[in-house]
Amino acid sequence: MSKTIKRIGVLTSGGDSPGMNAAIRSVVRTCAYHNIECVGIYRGYQGMIEGDFKEMGPRSVNNIVNKGGTILKSARSKDFMTPEGRQKAFSNIQKAGIDSLVVIGGDGSFTGAEVFNSEFNIPIMGIPGTIDNDIYGTSFTLGYDTALNTVVEVIDKIRDTASSHNRLFFVEVMGRDAGHIALNAGIGAGAEEILIPEEDLGLERLLDSLKKSKASGKSSSIVVIAEGDKIGKNVFELKDYVEANLPEYDVRVSVLGHMQRGGAPTCFDRVLASRLGVKAVESLIEGKSNFMVGILGDKITLTPIDQAIKGHSEIDRELLKVADIMST
Ligand code: ATP
Repeated sequence: MSKTIKRIGVLTSGGDSPGMNAAIRSVVRTCAYHNIECVGIYRGYQGMIEGDFKEMGPRSVNNIVNKGGTILKSARSKDFMTPEGRQKAFSNIQKAGIDSLVVIGGDGSFTGAEVFNSEFNIPIMGIPGTIDNDIYGTSFTLGYDTALNTVVEVIDKIRDTASSHNRLFFVEVMGRDAGHIALNAGIGAGAEEILIPEEDLGLERLLDSLKKSKASGKSSSIVVIAEGDKIGKNVFELKDYVEANLPEYDVRVSVLGHMQRGGAPTCFDRVLASRLGVKAVESLIEGKSNFMVGILGDKITLTPIDQAIKGHSEIDRELLKVADIMST
């Protein structure tokens, strides 16, 4: 028999992403709607270990649907990786009367939640919040759409200066293990080449493509490179390589960095966050546990959290072809 849920704790953990606030708001208001108490846990698992809690009601989440970052703050907690740390966290949430958890974060945060559940049998639900879109069981993670739009907007601006000076720009975007941002933003911003962790396009192909691009009369070129591109050279090494082999090119590098995580969430991320928050709380009320809520097609779904952790989110290979054709 599943326990009746009376008091849900909500936390954000790992890297922040736009839409986390909208998800917190949704969790808090869904709790209020169903007459369940809600407690905000600050700084992810570290705040749980330190008992950094705050009672939350529908009015404590006013005016945050449009804000980037997370009002609950986020953290990575080494202490939570230890049994002693988790025991302390459990004692604190027991004292606070918290009987279930909604964890908003990436696969590392879900792993922590799963371990915690296996040790203390506390019901948990995960909401995928990361700009990388690298979580199995959901077509979109919170913050990904916002990050894509941020990257496209910046590349459009870089394109203006690139065309004015006939320059080649290498733009590095986030994505150590996943090329979703690079591939989609690259297509959206009209990049000539896109280098991603999943696919080794090879240095020769890059040189060939740049040569062709010049010969065909293009006045500027943008190459979008994911942090973890498979060629294995960092963006500055790639610049040196291309300049050594194609002296006609004047290469500039732009590393977009943390700006990709900031900013007001897009409407898509706000709506997704609201839907995922409702589903997470209502699933806990129904007695479900150990799931990640996500979106597949246009349906909000539940994926067992161990599958979400272990499964691999694949890039859409059709997009590789589209990118290739678009750079003709
Ligand atoms: P991002 O996508 O930004 O990396 P993430 O949720 O994957 O987000 P991590 O730093 O991997 O971020 O994990 C967040 C926190 O989850 C860790 O700091 C740690 O406290 C907890 N955690 C991760 N793995 C485990 C584990 N095996 N056991 C216990 N806790 C864990």
